[in-house]
Amino acid sequence: MKKKVYGVMGVLEGMKYSPVGNHSAVQVCRWCRNSLNGRGVCWKEKFYGIESHRCCEFSCAVMWCENKCLHCWRPIEMNLGSCLNEKEVDDPKEILEKIIEARKKLLMGFKGNKNVDPKKFAESLEPTLFTMSLSGEPTIYPKLSGLIKEIRKRKAVSFLVTNGQNPDAIAKLDKENALPTQLTVSMNAPNEKLFTAWHRSTNKDAWEKFNRTLDLMKKLKGKVRRALRMTLVKKGETKNKNKEFNDISNMEDENVEEYAKLIKKAQPDFIHVKGFMSVGYARDRMGYDKMPWHKEVKEFAEKLVNTKMLSEDGYKVLDEEERSCVVVLGKNKKDMKINWKKI
Ligand code: SF4
Ligand code: SF4
Repeated sequence: MKKKVYGVMGVLEGMKYSPVGNHSAVQVCRWCRNSLNGRGVCWKEKFYGIESHRCCEFSCAVMWCENKCLHCWRPIEMNLGSCLNEKEVDDPKEILEKIIEARKKLLMGFKGNKNVDPKKFAESLEPTLFTMSLSGEPTIYPKLSGLIKEIRKRKAVSFLVTNGQNPDAIAKLDKENALPTQLTVSMNAPNEKLFTAWHRSTNKDAWEKFNRTLDLMKKLKGKVRRALRMTLVKKGETKNKNKEFNDISNMEDENVEEYAKLIKKAQPDFIHVKGFMSVGYARDRMGYDKMPWHKEVKEFAEKLVNTKMLSEDGYKVLDEEERSCVVVLGKNKKDMKINWKKI
């Protein structure tokens, strides 16, 4: 396994990731850097009350994923599969300690910088939020329960972002009392046909697994904060070699009712409706013309909450952030802030 990761190490380092152990990596995200430089914070600080400069974005399965999603900005063409052997994987405590150390090294460039508040810099070295969203699919790591429990021991918040391809892994977290603070499931296609074309999953029953995850999400009500994340892509010309995706879009009017049905099934606390960004490796697949404007994302979000299915359930627009092209839907604005007593 080590040999394989080292094969893609150069690519990960080129993306400013710091590889850790045999299958993990950490990065200092743009908003964490912006926050330290006094140039604004990520929308989750505004909505959820978590601090960008204390957020540790990492992955425990950095090059492992079942899917090859069209909108993915990571080097998915180099994925190493969708399975990590339980007997070979790194220990959760060791991963977390090494991730924190590697992140400290990445942050050292900010030390003594005249634009950085020394107090904020000192705080940044001790993360209060661990976001498993960097790259790869975290539920592939077989010791995820242990990792989340280690995060809890540090009295920090854990955000797990998943493609919904491992409902059994999420059920296991529940069974082992190891649910994260927030479970976010990516939902980028409203029906099986588009789901298959979009996610290009190695799982033959990918749509069925995704739907099982939505069913499970409903059952987890009250046990964990639950969010669905939609990345909207419009039709548009891609001025590069891959013109085959020009006409593909997941935000057509005909999709609204289909999405509403999926949302109704999962009954999430929040829905993050985001605009696609043509960055990283996604640029080769889909260019800038496929990025919707904030206005278009908001219009689509409003169409969703105006469906009979979602309005009768009490969903509404809770907040929005134009700079990040995101609109958050949910039922109660007061529930948005993290309750630090419940992490
Ligand atoms: S929540 Fe995401 S965008 Fe915000 S600081 Fe953390 S990793 Fe960056
Ligand atoms: S599931 Fe996530 S990591 Fe995997 S290909 Fe899709 S966007 Fe990328």
